[in-house]
Amino acid sequence: MEKLPIIDLHCDLLVYLLMNPDATPDDGAFGASLPFLKEGNVSLQVMAIFTAVEEESSKRGVAQSVLYKQMLDDYSKDISQVGAGYQVTQDPRVGMIASLESASGICNEVEPLENAFRNLDTIISNVNRLFYISFTHHTENRFGGGNYAKAGLKPDGEALLDYMGGKEIAIDLSHTSDALAHDILDYTYRKGLKVPVIASHSNFRDIWDHPRNLTRENAMEIINRGGVIGMNFLRAFLNNDEPGALLDHIRYGFDLPGGENAISFGADFFYTGDFPDPARDPYYFPVHEDATKYHALMDQLRGDLSEDQLKRLAYKNVERFIASNWT
Ligand SMILES: [Zn+2]
Repeated sequence: MEKLPIIDLHCDLLVYLLMNPDATPDDGAFGASLPFLKEGNVSLQVMAIFTAVEEESSKRGVAQSVLYKQMLDDYSKDISQVGAGYQVTQDPRVGMIASLESASGICNEVEPLENAFRNLDTIISNVNRLFYISFTHHTENRFGGGNYAKAGLKPDGEALLDYMGGKEIAIDLSHTSDALAHDILDYTYRKGLKVPVIASHSNFRDIWDHPRNLTRENAMEIINRGGVIGMNFLRAFLNNDEPGALLDHIRYGFDLPGGENAISFGADFFYTGDFPDPARDPYYFPVHEDATKYHALMDQLRGDLSEDQLKRLAYKNVERFIASNWT
């Protein structure tokens, strides 16, 4: 079967490179390494700049943007920067664009908020364009509540949303508390902010009840606002025991009204070697463990989804999102 081009909305290669100075983008220990991306016919991979809530967070955020820039220079034969007008092509190189997974990467908990905007501008000048910003990760920070927190949108988060207005950077709901998701949707609507809303790497709570997964209501709001939702491959967010649950999440997404315009991939490959959590080991089912696995999944979906729907899942929905939001 022909391998469709793939667009994937989330992986954490940059923090792996930052924390492991001997690691390279070719590293076979990483699920979205260059050899896997190429074998998987991945046309575009979004590269997240990940930081936790920590004192060094903004330094680590900026440092990852420098690594991104350096990677584009060092691997120019293998990687190309993606911009407005992007469409999947026969270019054998893997397209890339950066994103920000947690706004802690532009400002720690104590520095003045002005630093956030200065660091954001520095990061954007290093990486050319940011696909999206997720305000939080699992925990709460100065911008709002993460997946395992209760806080909603805070004044610093409002200021950051105002700053993002009209800058063609999406707000990502994948790591928000329910209150933060609600407040972001409400605030952007009330203020008429031009900030696209997406979930870069999240599944559905109706299929697997987990705080990392989207409620039906939030999924519908993303769809109705023209956003995209990237399906996550991590076992903990699918179903601990059933590899086939990924198919259930995808089918559920396509059954939502308008869902066929939004459902995409956000596999969420990250380095698990320095992340010991016995309850989550293995982090991925072997059938989803690296970027070569999209196509076996697509073959399993043939019959449930039409050829056009498979193309939407593989790349067309993100292509459409880029065409509608980037100039
Ligand atoms: Zn994540």
